[in-house]
Amino acid sequence: MKADPGAQRRLLDLQAVDTAIGQLDHRVKMLPEHALLADLQTRRQALGQRLVAAETALSDAVAAQTKAEADLGPVRERLRRDEKAVDGGTLTDPKTLSSMVGEIAHLKTRISTLEDEELELMEAVVSAEAEKTRIATERTSIEDQMRALVAKRDAAVADLQADLTDRRSIRTTLLAELPPPLVDTYEKVRSRSGGVGAAALQGRRCTGCGIEANPSDYERYLAAAPDEVLRCEECDRILVRTAD
Ligand SMILES: [Zn+2]
Repeated sequence: MKADPGAQRRLLDLQAVDTAIGQLDHRVKMLPEHALLADLQTRRQALGQRLVAAETALSDAVAAQTKAEADLGPVRERLRRDEKAVDGGTLTDPKTLSSMVGEIAHLKTRISTLEDEELELMEAVVSAEAEKTRIATERTSIEDQMRALVAKRDAAVADLQADLTDRRSIRTTLLAELPPPLVDTYEKVRSRSGGVGAAALQGRRCTGCGIEANPSDYERYLAAAPDEVLRCEECDRILVRTAD
């Protein structure tokens, strides 16, 4: 293949732009904010599930406390009635009086037990409320961190995208100046050579693969006409002789 030596040297400019574009694309993909956001999102989802569980626990605790309070009402009422009857002195039958006194003692014990239970249930409500608040606060804090990270990520992406836009515009200009067959060869080699299609010959060394040409290959490189497009014998990349 033949191409103007100036065009061959311009191919190194195209390579430099493509390398820069590749690095910028990589930096966009590898921004640390992506992984941090994914991690926070996982934590946020887990907290969302824990919040639902805490809300359920709280409503269960409130329902249990309400029921305990409701259970106490009739027992207290019964005690009041019994005490009134005894205090009123209307019970003349000793057996009835004795049974009523026994019932009062029993009701008092029952009320005391129910009150203890209700107290425990009230404590459960308070602790369920605290747990719910704690989880909600943690989630809010994670959402705040996420918002800050999204802003940071978007700013970083915008900077890199602006840089990419500049490089792509330079690339377009270069492509318009270069002979299409040379560009085609460059693209084919580049796609199978890790993104590097053209490399400079520095002394005996190919900057693409870093290997020095053996004496006979080097002789051939030197003897080749300036418009002949050389290929590295080691890596097959387009080997560009620079002006010096
Ligand atoms: Zn090489």
